[in-house]
Amino acid sequence: MPRALTDERRDLVKAIGDFCRRECGTKEQRDKLTANGQEQHNQRLYEKMAALGWLGIAVPEKYDGAGRGMVDLCLFLQETSYGRAPISGFGTTVIAAAAYDKFGTDTQKRVVLEGVTRGRVEAISMSEPGAGSDVAALTCRAERTAGGYLVNGQKTWCSNAHFADHILLIARTGRGGTKHEGLTQFMVPTDADGLRIRGIDTMGGKDVNDLYFTDTFVPDSAVVGTPGQAWSQLMAGLNLERMILGALMLGVARRAFDDTVAYVRRREQFGRAVGSFQSLKHRIADMATELACAQLLLDDVAAAIEAEPDRVFAREASMVKLKCTELAKHVTLEGMQMMGGYGYATEYEMEALLRQTVVSTVYGGTSEIQRDIIGRTYGL
Ligand SMILES: Cc1cc2nc3c(=O)[nH]c(=O)nc-3n(C[C@H](O)[C@H](O)[C@H](O)COP(=O)(O)OP(=O)(O)OC[C@H]3O[C@@H](n4cnc5c(N)ncnc54)[C@H](O)[C@@H]3O)c2cc1C
Repeated sequence: MPRALTDERRDLVKAIGDFCRRECGTKEQRDKLTANGQEQHNQRLYEKMAALGWLGIAVPEKYDGAGRGMVDLCLFLQETSYGRAPISGFGTTVIAAAAYDKFGTDTQKRVVLEGVTRGRVEAISMSEPGAGSDVAALTCRAERTAGGYLVNGQKTWCSNAHFADHILLIARTGRGGTKHEGLTQFMVPTDADGLRIRGIDTMGGKDVNDLYFTDTFVPDSAVVGTPGQAWSQLMAGLNLERMILGALMLGVARRAFDDTVAYVRRREQFGRAVGSFQSLKHRIADMATELACAQLLLDDVAAAIEAEPDRVFAREASMVKLKCTELAKHVTLEGMQMMGGYGYATEYEMEALLRQTVVSTVYGGTSEIQRDIIGRTYGL
C-alpha cells in the first residue's frame, strides 16, 4: 500500500530493510542468530543496530538519543519485525525506558536511557501468578527498612529478565486503601541479592521468566517516581505499550502476508497456481484490505499521540493493539492454511510467525481486556 512518508522516513525504512536483508534475510542466518528459533534476541545484532543510532530513536537527545516521536518509533518497530530481526529485547526496553524518562531521577535516566542507546536491555515486571488481567491485585511486597525496602514475593511472565540489566518492578508498599493504591515502582538490578530468575518453557522458546524475591534489598534511590503512585505512573505509559505491540505485530502480519502471496503464486495444483483459485484469491484480497486499514489506524493514532504526547488515548491505543494483534494472528493462520502441509513445516517459517502472533493477543492486556477498555470509553 502506498504510504505518505517524508523522504527522511522513507530513507529510514529502506535502511532498515537493507540491514535486515543483509543480516537476517535468510532462514540460515536467522537460525544461527536465534539458536534455531529458541532465542528471540541476538545481542550482537542488537548492538549493531545501536551503533547505527537506531535503538535510541525515542530517547531524548540529552541522553544520546535521536529524540524522535511515536511515528518514527512505530516505523522502526514495524520494519524490524517485518525484516524478522531477532531483537525481542527492544519492546520491554522502550516501555521501561519511557517510565524512567517520565518519572526517574537524573541518575536513573543516565543509566537506563544512555544504556538503551548503547544496546542495553531493560525489563518490566507487573504480572504475578494471581494477578494477570487483574494486575492491580498484585501482592509482591516491598517493606520499609533502614535506607530502603526489602522485597518478597513472586512475579511471573517477565520478558527478557534473563538478559536485561534491570527490572522495573511494581510492588506493594502500602496497606489498606483500594488495590490501585500503595503500589511503587523500583529499579532493581537483575543481579540483586535475593532475586532468582527462572525461565518458563513456552512454544515461543526462551523469552519469559518467573522471578522470586527473597529479602531483596533495594535502596531508596531505586524508587522510580513517587512511592505509592505506581498505578497512575503505569497508566501514563499505556499509549506507548499498546502502540509498540500493535506496530510489532503489524510488521509480522505484513511479512506473513507477503510470504503467503509469494507461495500461492508459485505453488501449482490442478495445473494452475493455487492462489488463482477464487477461494484463496478472495481471502488474500480481504487480508490485503484489512492490512491497509490497520496501517491507516496505526499511522493515524501514532500521529495523534506524537502531536499530544501527554494525553492518554485509551480508546485509540487499545484499538491499535486489538486490531493489529488479532489481524496478525488471523493472517499467519490463513498463511498456514494456504500453504497446505508446507505451512506446518519449519522449513518455511510460517509456523514460526504463527507461534509469534498467537500470544500477542494475550500479553500487554488480552483482546478481551482491550475490548473492555474500548467499551468503557463509550460509557458501558
Ligand atoms: C509471552 C508473554 C510475555 C509477557 N511479558 C510480560 C512482561 O514482560 N511483564 C509483565 O508484567 N507481564 C508480562 N506478561 C503477562 C501478561 O500481561 C498476562 O499474561 C496477561 O495480562 C493476561 O494475564 P493471565 O495470563 O494471568 O490471564 P488471565 O488474566 O488469567 O486471563 C485468562 C482469560 O480470562 C480472560 N479475562 C480475564 N479477565 C477478564 C475480564 N474482566 N473480562 C473478560 N475476560 C477476562 C482473559 O482475556 C483470558 O482470556 C507476559 C505474558 C506472556 C504470555
